[in-house]
Amino acid sequence: MINLILFGPPGSGKGTQAAKLVEKYSLIHISTGDLFRFEMSNNTPLGQQAKAYMAKGELVPDSVTIGMLRNKVEAHPEARGFIFDGFPRTIPQAEALDALLLEKKTTVSGLIALNVSDEEIVQRIKLRGKTSGRPDDNDEDIIRNRITVYKNETSPVYDYYARNGKSHTVNGTGSLLAIFRRLCKIINGF
Ligand code: AMP
Repeated sequence: MINLILFGPPGSGKGTQAAKLVEKYSLIHISTGDLFRFEMSNNTPLGQQAKAYMAKGELVPDSVTIGMLRNKVEAHPEARGFIFDGFPRTIPQAEALDALLLEKKTTVSGLIALNVSDEEIVQRIKLRGKTSGRPDDNDEDIIRNRITVYKNETSPVYDYYARNGKSHTVNGTGSLLAIFRRLCKIINGF
């Protein structure tokens, strides 16, 4: 089983690369951001809980996020592996993921961070905002807050997996294909 954490700041290309990787490696793609947006568009209780946090670019509380992730993983007992995109974003989320995978007698194969500069991220997200329709992509203060939250709350997850030698970084700039090849090179070594 391959269980990949695709890591990196908002706008670093995780979703785009995950779409290509799931095809090549026959994995299930789980994006917690997409799951929250789906819940919000259906106005479910979960969506309502997440809404205010997402609007500000803050993290949805761990208790809510971890429960949703667990449900999604358990909905795919047949999976050959997963790409976790946008999860884990805190140390408690990483610990919960490790425990969940251990229950399934598997483990995180590795974490790969896409490295992109802050200014490039802001430009990319603003561009994406023109078509994504996401309110959190259309306000520079919120975009910058998401980057700050990433640095303060999420980047420790990189160090958490680095302790077991599982964290990797690739250059997240260049052509789609060039970045894809960098990722595949690491995944092929899992
Ligand atoms: P994303 O699409 O990954 O950029 O996520 C959009 C927003 O959803 C984030 O700014 C958070 O408000 C929320 N979110 C997504 N994934 C998580 C997570 N793992 N933990 C907490 N909040 C999350």
